[in-house]
Amino acid sequence: MQILDGVLVSGHIKEQIKQDVTDFQAAGGKKPHLAAILVGNNPASEAYVGSKVKHCDELGFDSTLLRFEKDISEAFLIGEVERLNSDDSIDGILVQLPLPDHISGDAVINAISPAKDVDGFHPISLGKMLLGQPTFLPATPYGIMLMLEYYKIDTSGMHCVIIGRSNIVGTPMTILMSRASNPGNATVTMCHSKTKNLKEITKTADMIIAAIGRPKYVTADMVKPGAIIIDVGINRVDDQTKKSGSRLVGDVDFDNVAPLCSYITPVPKGVGLMTICGLMKNTLQAAKRSPSPAVSEGEGGVTK
Ligand code: NAD
Repeated sequence: MQILDGVLVSGHIKEQIKQDVTDFQAAGGKKPHLAAILVGNNPASEAYVGSKVKHCDELGFDSTLLRFEKDISEAFLIGEVERLNSDDSIDGILVQLPLPDHISGDAVINAISPAKDVDGFHPISLGKMLLGQPTFLPATPYGIMLMLEYYKIDTSGMHCVIIGRSNIVGTPMTILMSRASNPGNATVTMCHSKTKNLKEITKTADMIIAAIGRPKYVTADMVKPGAIIIDVGINRVDDQTKKSGSRLVGDVDFDNVAPLCSYITPVPKGVGLMTICGLMKNTLQAAKRSPSPAVSEGEGGVTK
């Protein structure tokens, strides 16, 4: 069993990004500039946005954090997004989700200029991804593809079971893993909350990507020996041995599943770090005024 090490891979990719920023500026380009919008003070959202801003500093990007009270109106927020769209100094815009219930996340995401959609959630970005055209890939699926690429894991012909159908992880992941590219070329089964006999399906998987949001939901009896396990889940559970009284666990029962499989991502220090890499690579591409290439050059993006 080999750990797919988010610290190692993200460190490597961040070095590449830093060098790329230096080269781009030496050639007369600008510093990439990410604008992040945070509405309200959800602690998890604060932590995610804080980490993104910190990474901008580390990689030589500019960042602007716009914070708003949770009772702002949808129209006000869309106005702010439009202001950022027309600000030439800003390359990428991210709106930290979830938004308060009275604001439509779809309406706000739709307001972001596709040229600055570095989270890859805009319908135009997702549509281009579906068609295999160069675009900003959603950050978490992009990060997972970068991880698989780094370890040169050949997924061609594998049965890949994806658990979860959200617009930001599960659904885009099914498209990326099934397209004619490497990583990709897998036979994909998407499972979700209404799937019957989940265990029977996961037992046939060469690769499981779990994006459920339930702690340790994927147990050893659901995994075929030798499978590859990608754990996207981030769940906070009580742990009185920790000073904070809690700790993070994934959607996979790591301790019991890890000995069975060929590769596995830990939580933390796995997919979460790769998500940041996806976002930062998208922002750099936005600064260069060109969307990210499909992950793999070769056949990347061509649906055959
Ligand atoms: P979501 O709540 O939008 O989607 C969860 C999905 O799980 C749904 O599609 C649902 O159908 C499915 N599901 C729920 N219960 C199920 C069950 N019993 N059996 C099968 N499927 C079931 O969540 P999301 O935004 O996709 O996030 C999923 C998890 O990944 C969360 O823990 C989230 O915090 C984490 N996440 C991590 C990163 C990262 O960078 N590591 C990024 C995004 C999300």
